[in-house]
Amino acid sequence: MAKSRGRGPTLAKDMNRLALYRQIKRQRVATRAELARRLELNKNTVGAIVDELIRAGYVRETGPQTTGGAGRNPRGIEFHAANKWAIGAQVTADALHLAAADLYGEPLATRTVPLGEHTPDAVADALALAAEALLREHGAGAACIGMGIGVPALLDEARAAVLRSSHLGWSEVPLAAMLQPRVPVPLLFDNSVKLSTLGEAERGAGAGCADFVYAHFGGGVGCGIIAGGALVRGQTNAAGELGHIALQPDGPLCGCGNRGCLETLVSVPALAAQIGARAGVPAETVTMPWIVARLASGDAIVASVMEEAGKRIGQALGALAAILNPRLIVCDGSLMEAAAYLFPIIRGEMERCGIPASARQAALVRSSLTPWAGALGAAAAVIRGWEDTIDPLALVTD
Ligand SMILES: [Zn+2]
Repeated sequence: MAKSRGRGPTLAKDMNRLALYRQIKRQRVATRAELARRLELNKNTVGAIVDELIRAGYVRETGPQTTGGAGRNPRGIEFHAANKWAIGAQVTADALHLAAADLYGEPLATRTVPLGEHTPDAVADALALAAEALLREHGAGAACIGMGIGVPALLDEARAAVLRSSHLGWSEVPLAAMLQPRVPVPLLFDNSVKLSTLGEAERGAGAGCADFVYAHFGGGVGCGIIAGGALVRGQTNAAGELGHIALQPDGPLCGCGNRGCLETLVSVPALAAQIGARAGVPAETVTMPWIVARLASGDAIVASVMEEAGKRIGQALGALAAILNPRLIVCDGSLMEAAAYLFPIIRGEMERCGIPASARQAALVRSSLTPWAGALGAAAAVIRGWEDTIDPLALVTD
């Protein structure tokens, strides 16, 4: 047992290193005396570890802090969030949205890379090139702790391969195996709606909210659920398939094999097809800006199709509100460019179809992060994962 006797003080020091890292990060600005008091640690222990964290770059000296009392003002320290950074990426059918974020998840840079095509090879190429550019601009080495990538897809249990994506037309794509050899930092993959939900929880309307739903309406439809402060994944990480609630038994055939799923009725391509057919215009003319302009000019056909879409969404969200009783439903995706028209219809139908009290208690808001929720959530997931598994000694010696 000689080894464990030797490990005792080391283990305690490791725990103190982590506790101090977390406390300084939480407080942003602190003094050594204050940290010693809050964590009930010896001042010398705090001083020694803070010096280590300063040498490792996580903490910086600031000017003297005002204590309000008489006597010498102690020197302050602050958390240096830019000491490490992470890359977040969200894959859509026509573009990649990317963010570089510091340890607070604060964006250092954001950019959109248009995709000419969205085959697995083209997307992997674009992701590798975008990562390379960000690493060149922001410094690679140990400073970049990883890259998180959100894919509109059902992923395998290890979240390394895409099982299928109706949005991208992919099945059985070994994305991690394709990309990891080309990117010199650890990669994390997840469903893009789940990462967008984390983005909203960290930096958007969901910040500080323990019960909310993030709902995405664009080329596809899906949602992420935060319940009791935690992301709901379900048994096989497939929770949140809002787009596959079947609302019309004789409706259009869906990629999932059922008929009349919400996604077949209200995705932007589905609405473009409906409006195109009824108005006699090519579906490719019917973009969201076109729809918004037609709504503003009082186009009766567009208004009627969009009203029907709003009702369908309201029915689905009403059911969701009845089951989950969320405080907030954050709506994102290109369809929400028409939120001013859709929200009153959605709200009315939610109250008509769901439990009125639960529906009324759920605030309906548009995402303020569009189109960055997924990229910021992906970066936040990398940072969380890194902080949860970090070796406290490596924190100060790497
Ligand atoms: Zn379906």
